[in-house]
Amino acid sequence: MKKEMHPEMKLVTVKCTCGAEHKFYSTKENIKIDLCSSCHPFFRGDASSMILDTEGRVQKFRNKYGDNY
Ligand SMILES: [Zn+2]
Repeated sequence: MKKEMHPEMKLVTVKCTCGAEHKFYSTKENIKIDLCSSCHPFFRGDASSMILDTEGRVQKFRNKYGDNY
């Protein structure tokens, strides 16, 4: 006989390193995050900084290996 365990969903408060608190339902407690919708451009939908970052990496790669790869 197998007794199925259903994880209990709790309303937990997640604290971000930026100080913002987010509440949502989860089976885990004491969740800490480094980035959230308040402090990370990706979550805000503002991807411009990420695109710039990607271009910077491509440029670094080209500077190192040249354009002839
Ligand atoms: Zn945050």
